[in-house]
Amino acid sequence: MNRETKRKGILFVISAPSGAGKTTLCAEAMKIFPDIRMSVSCTTRKMRQGEIEGVDYNFINHDQFKNMIKKGAFAEWAEVHGEMYGTSVETIRKAEAEGIDLILDIDWQGAKQIRESLNTGVYIFILPPNIAELEKRLKGRGKDTEEVIKRRLNNAKREIEHAHSYDYNIINDNLKESVTCLKSIIIAERCRPAGHNSI
Ligand code: 5GP
Repeated sequence: MNRETKRKGILFVISAPSGAGKTTLCAEAMKIFPDIRMSVSCTTRKMRQGEIEGVDYNFINHDQFKNMIKKGAFAEWAEVHGEMYGTSVETIRKAEAEGIDLILDIDWQGAKQIRESLNTGVYIFILPPNIAELEKRLKGRGKDTEEVIKRRLNNAKREIEHAHSYDYNIINDNLKESVTCLKSIIIAERCRPAGHNSI
């Protein structure tokens, strides 16, 4: 049997409250596994300084987002921090067709939708060591206003309640150790017999 032609992609669904270090962790994972692809979501939120259209997100307006919902173009979508975010069906189908592992960096609402509709994937929740540390990180990165930080902190407390429904939890206290955890999860999941977790 030719293993290459049989391989299916794995869907890694990663959630975390903002400031837990998910972006850094995913970036480190991409360095270790350059064959994994990060899914690029659509969002109505404003582009932050340094972000690139089509790389960090596909930045669209509310009408475009509503249109995509109507057309059934999203595999999942949710309102997060007052803005709309969604993963297109196309992104998942493309990875599936190419047998490529895909990381979805989405919130718990989207993760739940993906699990229910696709019934596959590996679900990882990244936790901050504690709320005080999360607040420190959010303020330290200087990306958001005081009001946005307050809203994100309140949301974080609610999001963390969903961590137990994921397959893995990583407490991101020490980046190096967390990278090792994520790397180990990816390697272990890739060793599972085909069909267990693939799209
Ligand atoms: P940020 O605005 O900081 O980039 O992301 C805010 C939150 O939106 C993060 O928790 C992120 O995981 C989530 N998010 C990003 N893209 C998507 C998506 O396509 N769907 C869902 N449900 N959440 C998303």
